[in-house]
Amino acid sequence: MPANVTSDIQTDVINVNPVEHSRLPGVDLNNPGFGRLFADHMFSMEYKDGQWQNPAIVPFDKLEFMPSLTALHYGQSIFEGMKAFRTDDGTINIFRPEKHHERLNKSCRRLCIPEIDQDLFMEALQTLVKLDRDWVPEKKGNALYIRPLVFGTDTHISVSEAETYRFLIMTSPVGAYYKEGINPVRLMTSSNYVRSAQGGAGNVKTAGNYAASLLPAKKAKEQGFTQVLWLDAKEHKYIEEVGTMNIFFKIDDRLITPPLEGTILGGITRDSVIQLALEWDVDVDERHITIDELFEASGKGSLQEAFGTGTAAVISPVGRINHNGSEIILDENQIGPFAQRLYNELTGIQYGEVEDRHNWIYSV
Ligand code: PMP
Repeated sequence: MPANVTSDIQTDVINVNPVEHSRLPGVDLNNPGFGRLFADHMFSMEYKDGQWQNPAIVPFDKLEFMPSLTALHYGQSIFEGMKAFRTDDGTINIFRPEKHHERLNKSCRRLCIPEIDQDLFMEALQTLVKLDRDWVPEKKGNALYIRPLVFGTDTHISVSEAETYRFLIMTSPVGAYYKEGINPVRLMTSSNYVRSAQGGAGNVKTAGNYAASLLPAKKAKEQGFTQVLWLDAKEHKYIEEVGTMNIFFKIDDRLITPPLEGTILGGITRDSVIQLALEWDVDVDERHITIDELFEASGKGSLQEAFGTGTAAVISPVGRINHNGSEIILDENQIGPFAQRLYNELTGIQYGEVEDRHNWIYSV
């Protein structure tokens, strides 16, 4: 057995079945790309007869299902995305896993999926990351992305909530999410499409939200933009969020971000940024902001910075915003000072270089 596969990790509840040969020797962890490479193992658990059962860690491999799998037809499928970081002393730090678990269960409830127990979730996560710890990249900026996924596994094609489910956690060594790295991204609003309406499922992480965003995102890319800046579904004037990020603006020294009122995903990075800003005595307004107000602020010179926040990119400065052909051009070449400070603080905490005053880190 190769040195990096530890066979002595066993827990009382989780059956651990390690791979015979790790795939790691063939992998360049310095250039992992994003989300196309997966570590040796995954966690897997089934729901049937009214309870979650058979928690196990198994080799990351193909699954076999019937073509009538309900999740494929009607999208009863939810997921999470978090990261683990390697510190200089070799400790592996997972960022805010309890918060991700909380959001996972919120998504479960919205999609009629049975919730996952927190203790079991944490044990699964810890056991999995420990087993595949050598897959956590050393290079700063790289990390092990952790993808929990829950989906309906009934095999019929009637539209109803499933009676059986599968819960998986897979992990993937990753580098920068955007090819721009920490350089500014370009956003455009969409006049034809919306992401989510009041009463929909925009505030949870369900597969269908992302499926429906692909076409508008593709159109934005064809026009030279990185992602869509979503506006509200009803009046089409309030700024909501970006494809996989929440959005922040610094205007007249105040930090402004749209409120969580049901249509926006409550980002864990968003929450962390708000806490840090308040600690630094920066005024934070979680309030509605129209695209027109943003253009006015830009015209007056009071729009200081714009940036997105999300697990994948952490802080992503926005360099350009296009709305119906008009453009706001921020700094296209570099990150603003406040976004940079947030980036340094957050990544500092994640890589164990800045004190974790908020108990955000779960060390493995
Ligand atoms: N909005 C959407 C639609 C997302 O997919 C994500 C990524 N999970 C975010 C915002 C940011 O959330 P977080 O900071 O928890 O990654």
